[in-house]
Amino acid sequence: MSRNVTCAFSAAKDAHMTMLYFDFNATTPLSHKSKAAILGMLDQFANPSSKYSLSRHLTTLIKGAKDSMAQLVGGDAQRIIFTSGGTESNNLALHSVFSQFPATQLSRYHAICSAIEHSSILETLFWYQKKGLNLTLIEPKENGRIDLEKLNRTITPQTCLIALMAINNETGVIQPYDELAVSLKGKGIHLHIDAVQAVGKWPLPRFDDIPLTLSFSGHKFYAPKGIGGLYYSQQVKIYPLLHGGGQEYGLRSGTENTLGIAGLAAAAEEACQELPQRLQYCQKMRSHFLNQLDKSGINYHLNGETNPEFQAPWTLNISFPGIRAEALANRLDLCHGISVSLGSACSNNSTSPKRSHVLLAMHAPYSYIDSALRISFGHFTELWAINVLVNALQQEIQHLLTMSGEQI
Ligand code: PLP
Repeated sequence: MSRNVTCAFSAAKDAHMTMLYFDFNATTPLSHKSKAAILGMLDQFANPSSKYSLSRHLTTLIKGAKDSMAQLVGGDAQRIIFTSGGTESNNLALHSVFSQFPATQLSRYHAICSAIEHSSILETLFWYQKKGLNLTLIEPKENGRIDLEKLNRTITPQTCLIALMAINNETGVIQPYDELAVSLKGKGIHLHIDAVQAVGKWPLPRFDDIPLTLSFSGHKFYAPKGIGGLYYSQQVKIYPLLHGGGQEYGLRSGTENTLGIAGLAAAAEEACQELPQRLQYCQKMRSHFLNQLDKSGINYHLNGETNPEFQAPWTLNISFPGIRAEALANRLDLCHGISVSLGSACSNNSTSPKRSHVLLAMHAPYSYIDSALRISFGHFTELWAINVLVNALQQEIQHLLTMSGEQI
């Protein structure tokens, strides 16, 4: 085969495998408009902080991007700080809360967070806990949703922070962050919402009248990796993590990621316009997947809330009893070119495989946890790809059961 033919073949194979991608909660491909916006910026190399005309339109680009993001997060553009993504935004928000207090007095303060938060919240809070902070972790109900009454019972006069994510990355369960925000009015407790899995995908209400921070990440909604941000309400003082040139009103130093910001702005504008259609589309994909799965006779169990009101339609956390999820995911990948996740992609970084902290906190039985896959869709997912996925699941589950001497 000539070199060109090989390249054309592997490009077609890559495109096909991209269509068999079912891990949109880990990251999303660039949308066409986001990609075009980045390509259009490739030669715009100037530093936005410089004062000459070559830089001036970059300042306009950054301002415009904040306006677009403000629409998505339901807040004011001047209180959006661009960061490198969700992890940095979560760290910045929590750091800002605890920086208000003298480090030696942390033990006088109390924070509450759900036990199903992303590691960028949990690990940061554990770090402050080692320095003296009193921390309460709240486990969800079996359906993966936090019970607000239970959470409210743990509030004390020392409580300074509650961290509750908007949508769980492993189960897609929508948390009662909006009710919590309303109930915190007048209490002076800071609410941090990790909205990384919600911004650009799920409509958010406007949160104005409490001390609140809300984080987002571009690569979860068709913008590039390495760009995200933090929204903060008027009652919040941000204490920077990064000191230096004073960019982002002095709250996040470092030359702005103009390529990322251009891609983020385009993705945000598209998301604003297309949100209802995208949600409807994902709902259709989900129903089709579940119908096909039912027809296939595969034995499965859905982990987490099944009421569509509290379930992101693009996420399924699904157990196949009797099957080791790792073996199934490997076979889907190697034999069919299908990408699915075992749970949170971030926890895949650890060297020893760990049981999902989210499913453990939901008290799911080990047989469900060890056989759970996370399948997540996007509006790029096509019906035929779902059919391929279900056929492959049927084939590989049958294979793995036969190997272990069982039947489908
Ligand atoms: N928060 C949640 C809920 C996430 O799902 C993720 C990434 O998976 C993050 C935070 C981290 O975001 P980033 O990858 O932009 O650092």
